Amino acid sequence: MSLDAFLEPDAKQEAEPLDAALQAKLDEVIARLQQAWQEYGETLTFANSLGAEDALLTGLIAQHQPEIAQFVLDTGRLPEPTLTLLDQVRSRWPQINIQVFYPDASKLQDFVNREGVNAFYRSQELRKACCGVRKVEPLQRALADKKAWMTGLRREQSVTRDQLEYSQWDAGNGLQKLSPLYDWSEAELWQAIKALKLPYNALHDQGYPSIGCAPCTRAVQPGDDPRSGRWWWENPETRECGLHK
Ligand code: SF4
Repeated sequence: MSLDAFLEPDAKQEAEPLDAALQAKLDEVIARLQQAWQEYGETLTFANSLGAEDALLTGLIAQHQPEIAQFVLDTGRLPEPTLTLLDQVRSRWPQINIQVFYPDASKLQDFVNREGVNAFYRSQELRKACCGVRKVEPLQRALADKKAWMTGLRREQSVTRDQLEYSQWDAGNGLQKLSPLYDWSEAELWQAIKALKLPYNALHDQGYPSIGCAPCTRAVQPGDDPRSGRWWWENPETRECGLHK
């Protein structure tokens, strides 16, 4: 697959050639996307969390399988650069279909009126309750009529993900879960994003390797665990929001 196939005309002049090993990994991911569409069609959806992995998958989907539906969960607490990226992606690739899901207004209002706007800092139970209202319930609506969902998860990301496979049954949500980048390293990911000149979240250049809601994400030092800036006040084993069990 030629690098030119990924690039906008004005970006081609600055393109760096990919090494053969990375090119082979990209081709493998493209084949996974195409095969997933053939198998699941409109019952497949990509959970685009607008992180680095999603930047690569979005670019590949836009160029090679734009029919794959995508959705974003807007929790109401996302950082501004994440929302800016969403508009950039939509304007660069009008051929892709991204649906935005919001929390149920009534459930969120009840939770905030009962527990306050920043209840997640008080206990893990309240943190999970906030994720439940702002993320998990909207996710269930996004997946309601689907047979498979695609994510940007990678094994390397955390101790909670080191057993990840490309395709796994998601018993919690009752559908197949596909993670085309499951075997990618952080270095490979960034090499591909930069070489393909894909738009990515500006916070990644400010010390945020993993980005979630603004009040629950902070910058980390070089060399730190990439997910150590997410819910940093909790143990590493509990740092999942309920989307990926
Ligand atoms: S990440 Fe934080 S603000 Fe976002 S839903 Fe979870 S607890 Fe709430």
